[in-house]
Amino acid sequence: MSNSPLVDYICLSPHMEAPREAKIDRITIHHMAGDLSVEVCGNIFQNPERRASSNYSVGTDGRVGMYVEEGNRSFCSSSPENDHRAVTIEVANDEFGGEWHVGDVALEKTIVLCVDICLRNGIKELVYTGDTTGNLTMHKWFRATACPGPYLSSKFPYIAEEVTRRIREKVEN
Ligand SMILES: [Zn+2]
Repeated sequence: MSNSPLVDYICLSPHMEAPREAKIDRITIHHMAGDLSVEVCGNIFQNPERRASSNYSVGTDGRVGMYVEEGNRSFCSSSPENDHRAVTIEVANDEFGGEWHVGDVALEKTIVLCVDICLRNGIKELVYTGDTTGNLTMHKWFRATACPGPYLSSKFPYIAEEVTRRIREKVEN
């Protein structure tokens, strides 16, 4: 199993399970609930009191961090069942509270990262259904949390459509 060539910064977290117990067939996009750099996010995922991690993160500057290799299960979505199947991505906010806005640079890089994940893992389309029958999932479906926030939640249909459009473009060319 490969990792993304888009990664700018690596800080592997001890909070994971190796290897994951299922084939990657979905993506879960989270928000950081803060404007954290990929370095600060990586530091939090070293904290033994948090026992949290994600496979990747995207900063407001568009840089990508990796904390758990794709072959392993992150502790991200409060659902082992989801995280064994999912590549998890933490995206930085450029607004604290409110809509938990995400900047355009981070949003675009998240889409590019999702396309890369799908192409390398043989996922032919990213489907948002509003529940777990699709393969783009939200943290708030697995526990009581605001994640991924109102703004990013509203972008899930767009992200899914855009990722699928770009996968088809690459496969056809
Ligand atoms: Zn989350």
